[in-house]
Amino acid sequence: MAIVAHATVGTNSIDFLRRGGDLPDGSDRRVSIHVLFDKAGKRYVYLPDSVGANHVGFSTLTINGQTFCRTCQINANQSTLGFELENLQDGQDPYTEAQLLSMGWQINEWRRIHGPLPVVRHADIDPTRRSDPTDLSVVQMEEWARRAAGEQPPRNNGLQRFVVIPDSLAIVREGPGTSFPEALGGRSRNLTRLPGGTEVLVDRIVRGEEAFGDTRWAHLENDIGFIHILALERA
Ligand SMILES: [Zn+2]
Repeated sequence: MAIVAHATVGTNSIDFLRRGGDLPDGSDRRVSIHVLFDKAGKRYVYLPDSVGANHVGFSTLTINGQTFCRTCQINANQSTLGFELENLQDGQDPYTEAQLLSMGWQINEWRRIHGPLPVVRHADIDPTRRSDPTDLSVVQMEEWARRAAGEQPPRNNGLQRFVVIPDSLAIVREGPGTSFPEALGGRSRNLTRLPGGTEVLVDRIVRGEEAFGDTRWAHLENDIGFIHILALERA
């Protein structure tokens, strides 16, 4: 399973998502979602987790080697949980802190119940049709999840300089573990595996999946992503 992030392209989608269509009786119902977060951070639950929502019917995604798609044995609606962030998606309308903290809480809650689900953006699994949620990367959503869990936000002072050890598996990931996808956020997209000798700035070390007997992962500045600590040495 995975968690899919959406944004509504609206300002008041609460009733629309309850109906799922334009007609008041819901007879044209075509979309549904598990949870919506409005701009005040209020959470609206529409469906139980056990029911597939109609939110990613045209999407294709692969989780742990299994692909879900429109023509696959199992489609993406049946293998995902979805949330919507109320937002105009015009590049001007900001997500609010309350909204993103609620989202972070939900991501943590779903993981507590269902295990370490990855978060994906709708745009990344249906790129020809969708662009939501704009201006919100998976790395940023993971940051809000950690913030919602009470971790300190990253400090911008106290950056530590490291260099990538040659021939190490310095793959930049969206979370501190090998189950997280390679970082898709902005600059790192075409450079998720960093060559030996690359200098990186680390704003904190977090605990994550154990690899080679070590659970430490370095979080790169500007939310670029995470690299396992054993791929790095102090500059
Ligand atoms: Zn969407």
